[in-house]
Amino acid sequence: MNSEFDIIRRYFKRAASNAALGIGDDAALIDITPGNELAISTDTLVCGKHFFADTDPYRLGHKSLAVNLSDMAAMGAKPRWALLALTLPETLAQQNQTWLQQFSAGFFALAEQHHVELIGGDTTAGPLNICVQILGEVEKEKALRRSGAKSGDDIWVSGTLGDAALALQHLLGKIVLNPDEIDQCLPALLTPAPRIELGRRLIGLAHSAIDISDGLVADLGHILQNSEKSAVIHLHSIPCSPVLKKRLPQSVAMACLLAGGDDYELCFTAPTAHRAKITMLAAELRMPLTCIGEISSGEGLIVKDAQGKTMTLETTGYDHFSTGNR
Ligand code: ADP
Ligand code: MG
Repeated sequence: MNSEFDIIRRYFKRAASNAALGIGDDAALIDITPGNELAISTDTLVCGKHFFADTDPYRLGHKSLAVNLSDMAAMGAKPRWALLALTLPETLAQQNQTWLQQFSAGFFALAEQHHVELIGGDTTAGPLNICVQILGEVEKEKALRRSGAKSGDDIWVSGTLGDAALALQHLLGKIVLNPDEIDQCLPALLTPAPRIELGRRLIGLAHSAIDISDGLVADLGHILQNSEKSAVIHLHSIPCSPVLKKRLPQSVAMACLLAGGDDYELCFTAPTAHRAKITMLAAELRMPLTCIGEISSGEGLIVKDAQGKTMTLETTGYDHFSTGNR
């Protein structure tokens, strides 16, 4: 039998590294680097809503931390500490230890990659639910906010968009991807790579940033709303994988590209004077950084097609994803 304390000791307690006091007391203690602010965020993954019950536990461990790291990336913060509140059905807690072993291995593999220390959490019995809290540091007053976009800024996105949503559509049985295509799209859904290094390097280059967790239109919309600005983006310039491109302009593919969730890429705005530096950064980080449009005064988001025509919500597929399909 695994008691709550066995679980914590066996799977989650590791030798302390940078916290003043880690797992094992009523609270952890941390020292903050002078001249920095704490960036704090939390994200929950609910079984049946954010992942399927039979999701591979190693990948689930990775993703539950990755979605939180992505919020740090979007702020330009360096992630340092995490807390994990795990609600676990008895069956998984007692299941020959496999589930917990795999889950914690996936979690710690990503944590180590980013030098993040697990300093506490909570373990309870109940329907599977994973809530991670992340704490990071960012130089005082330098954090990338949603509210910083300026008229004339370029709008950039990292990586390619829509593959996670495309993979999800496949798993839901709404489209059929062939095995090769599944191999290409599924990692985006199951093991996203948070853009921490990019976020750090955008400090001083970008005026605003957000991570694309709810889809480009929705998340860029948050930048516009918070910055009180408008934007035009060009459909043909939004970067996507060959798997998705092949399916354009089908409305499912369009919806994945513009409104697909779970991408965990960064969308940021930067003055045109920084174009060359951003292009060099893309080469250095070996990741695509693509300019997809521009910020203006006013309000609202316009999507233009290849002919420069304004697209409607139906033709972008946006409402396809915003009518209870997710
Ligand atoms: P309390 O009774 O004060 O809530 P707990 O018995 O829940 O404390 O937890 C004991 C210690 O183990 C605490 O330091 C807590 O932060 C840590 N902890 C509990 N669950 C987890 C978990 N899933 N991952 C990491 N640390 C955990
Ligand atoms: Mg407790």
